Amino acid sequence: MASIVALGESIKKAPLIAEVLGESGPIIHLYSGVHGDEPESVEFLTGFWKRELLENVPDNITILYFPEVNPDGLEAGTRVNANGVDINRNFPSKNWEPKSVEKKNYPGKSPASEPETKAIMSAIDRFPPSAIISVHTWIPQVNFDGPAENLAKIIAAKNGYVLTEHIGYPTPGSLGAFAGYDRNIQVITLELPEHTPVSGYWERNSGALWEAIKYLEKHG
Ligand SMILES: [Zn+2]
Repeated sequence: MASIVALGESIKKAPLIAEVLGESGPIIHLYSGVHGDEPESVEFLTGFWKRELLENVPDNITILYFPEVNPDGLEAGTRVNANGVDINRNFPSKNWEPKSVEKKNYPGKSPASEPETKAIMSAIDRFPPSAIISVHTWIPQVNFDGPAENLAKIIAAKNGYVLTEHIGYPTPGSLGAFAGYDRNIQVITLELPEHTPVSGYWERNSGALWEAIKYLEKHG
């Protein structure tokens, strides 16, 4: 049985809720819906949780599942939250910057100004993870920050996506900067294809998450 963890509420008062499965072993966090215009990330992770994890609860690991990090953005179909902030640029990392090149990456008026950012920070404080896998959609790839190269290789070997350490442009205030670089947590940004899943999409990516879980059960 998973337990419910309240992590606050969004600007528009939607509850920010995670679920935790398991009580032993290393802790792994699974997030999706950080960007509200990437609903396929939520669809995938919710499917994985319901159809795979709850059906075959792994023994030696604790999993925190936070499927709708940015419910207001998901409701509106926008990347940003209801304040126009890109949550993945709002983390209080050492490299946070008050300005962004593009409006869609607006980092907020101050670091950690947004309730969705604080929700993830609270989850990290209360359930310190050895690894975080945050599911997005874009050009398919397995991007990693912090000490996550081995984990990224295992995931990429299964889903066949390209492995990237740098996403191609600076991402100050990102989850990877905050948790990966500043806190030395393994952080994977799993970019799934946008829109129509290509054939083998489910098998590749659910298989990849199982490989990640097996690896983390052993190595933390
Ligand atoms: Zn994204």
